[in-house]
Amino acid sequence: MDNLLELRHISKVYQRGLINTQATIALQDISLTLKEDEPTILTVAGESGSGKTTLAMLLLGFITSTTGEIIYRGKNINSLEGKERIAYRREVQAVFQDPFAVFNPFYTVDHLLTVPIRTFGLAKGKADARKKMDEALNAVGLRPEDVLGRFPHQLSGGQRQRINVARALLLKPRLLIADEPVSMVDASLRATILETLRNLQRDHGVSIIYITHDLTTAFHIAKSIIVLYRGGVMEAGDVDKVIKNPQHPYTKLLVDSIPWPNLDQRWGEHPIKAREAQGGGSGCKFIGRCPYAMEICKTVPPLFEIEEKHAAACYLYDKQPQIVAERLSELLPV
Ligand code: SF4
Repeated sequence: MDNLLELRHISKVYQRGLINTQATIALQDISLTLKEDEPTILTVAGESGSGKTTLAMLLLGFITSTTGEIIYRGKNINSLEGKERIAYRREVQAVFQDPFAVFNPFYTVDHLLTVPIRTFGLAKGKADARKKMDEALNAVGLRPEDVLGRFPHQLSGGQRQRINVARALLLKPRLLIADEPVSMVDASLRATILETLRNLQRDHGVSIIYITHDLTTAFHIAKSIIVLYRGGVMEAGDVDKVIKNPQHPYTKLLVDSIPWPNLDQRWGEHPIKAREAQGGGSGCKFIGRCPYAMEICKTVPPLFEIEEKHAAACYLYDKQPQIVAERLSELLPV
């Protein structure tokens, strides 16, 4: 089976300052594979500064990695030219956090949808363009007559975000990068948008990388999850196992902060320090906050396989088999 997307040992380091240069590692040695014939939804979770948005920017080709390669359908994305580059731009689409930002307040919804149709020559004429817009809007649960001809301010946040998804769908993407797509949408509309994304994967064969800080939405939408902290993978595997039975102290902290509607569960049971600006050095990235830190944690922990489809990069599990970075995808159900 061919690969749709491969990340091979991707790292991204940002340099700041001209004289006293400071390096910030945004992503460190991430390897990942998505199969062409197995459309999936993979959550990449973490708090701000975890590297998840850097990952989105890399996948969309907005920035380049410091080391490693991103291979899309067999080709390094940085070497794509001409028709291949255009195909990549069409097949890899994004939905961002802010459903207002992509709308020009002076244009109707029709404009937002006709621009990609014109740019990529997707329709044979006006009637065909309208048919394609109708199909895309129907696919995201919107009635064309409710939204076409309207200006952005006449629509709800949920409608705007679903129009963004419809715009991406028009281009028949193979991969959708959804970067915090529901974080600025009313809670009452989140489920609808998550359902829309799940339909895209199930009915249209689109793989989705769902980027979020919110583990509850991850739990509802994805089958697999990678938890990032300071650019490194802390825990990965089946979303059910990782969220219901977190093993890495950082994931425990994230899960512990979810306001589950369970009065018997106490928040903050895990005595973990608040965010710390520095620390970690060349060892475990979480060492500065971890109540279980040991001498060995001054070296970088590999991933240890805790159970099937579940691993954590933590020396608390060093009796378990190690998993090399390239095998990360084997932990992720599709
Ligand atoms: Fe804590 Fe050590 Fe595990 Fe890092 S490797 S999370 S410092 S116990």
